[in-house]
Amino acid sequence: MKEFDLQRLIRPHILTLKPYSSARDEYSGSEGIFLDANENPLGSVNGGAYNRYPDPLQEKVKKKLANLKQVSPKQIFLGNGSDEPIDLLFRAFVKPGRENVIALPPTYGMYEVCASINDVEVRNVPLTPAFQIETENVLQAVDEHTKIIFVCSPNNPTGNLIEKEAVLALLQGFHGLVVVDEAYIDFAQSESTIEQLGQFPNLVVLQTFSKAWGLAALRLGVAYASEEIVAILNKIKAPYNITTHTQETALKALENVGEKEQMVQEIVAQRDLLAKELSALEVTQQVFPSDANFLLVQVDDAKEVYSYLVDNKIIVRDRSKVILCDESLRITVGTAQENEHLVKAFKAYGNR
Ligand SMILES: *Cc1c(COP(=O)(O)O)cnc(C)c1O
Repeated sequence: MKEFDLQRLIRPHILTLKPYSSARDEYSGSEGIFLDANENPLGSVNGGAYNRYPDPLQEKVKKKLANLKQVSPKQIFLGNGSDEPIDLLFRAFVKPGRENVIALPPTYGMYEVCASINDVEVRNVPLTPAFQIETENVLQAVDEHTKIIFVCSPNNPTGNLIEKEAVLALLQGFHGLVVVDEAYIDFAQSESTIEQLGQFPNLVVLQTFSKAWGLAALRLGVAYASEEIVAILNKIKAPYNITTHTQETALKALENVGEKEQMVQEIVAQRDLLAKELSALEVTQQVFPSDANFLLVQVDDAKEVYSYLVDNKIIVRDRSKVILCDESLRITVGTAQENEHLVKAFKAYGNR
């Protein structure tokens, strides 16, 4: 592929697919007697007002979100968690058994799982020891069957931002899709890649309500991309993929951006304090710098520390089997009190 050409990037059968047309697609007014969707006209068991199907395109949430992010509502796709747009991107763009995607380990495991589910080859190009992208190596791994490169920034499980120049180099040098997963962007001192949407038709930015917004149980993920890419995702998604309850709750959250920002501030302050305290311990080899709401901590014996913490009812993530993460634990920043308990347990481990 010499230039970005969306029509040629999409799998041909998706291009010609005629999507399901729901009752709410065919008539979207809000006034009238609705006898078109076989709903229960009497109400909901339990008394909630959930007897009507939700808005299939989530217009109200998108309008608010578009305003907040300074994009058009048509550049927003909402999914059942970030997993949904990731899966839909595979289904729309990557031919099973034939085409491939590139991942940059150590990184979020869902890209590889989703690739496996879709019978798609993953080409792994490891990050540098400083957890940055080796742009040339990535571009060298690309062949004519490569459709997507997944970049996670801030990266999970390492916690660091990926240098913007490297991401821009991939966007420029690769003419498939570059998916930038920004699940943790709220915790970083950095502008979102959303700013580059106008410049790069091959960019997809993923964000989520699961982390900074504190709404993991809702399952609401967001993909920002060109109107054309969003239209493709809308064409193949399940018709009513976001519940009314989720849409209503997200709308309320978006009216309380200040509360999110306050929580982010508190978590970032706790993160920096925790990093300092853990760094000072004998058992700690290093605490990697974090732009996220967790710390990657290298210790003397990760398996043993992990078990010790579990015995003390503190659960962290053992990432020591992951490439470039030898003897490392991924620790989510908790409340001040939870972090104190953690540090106390670490100290007790040292004195045992
Ligand atoms: C937590 C996380 C997500 C969010 O997933 P949801 O399905 O939206 O809850 C996405 N990407 C990364 C890298 C994450 O760590």
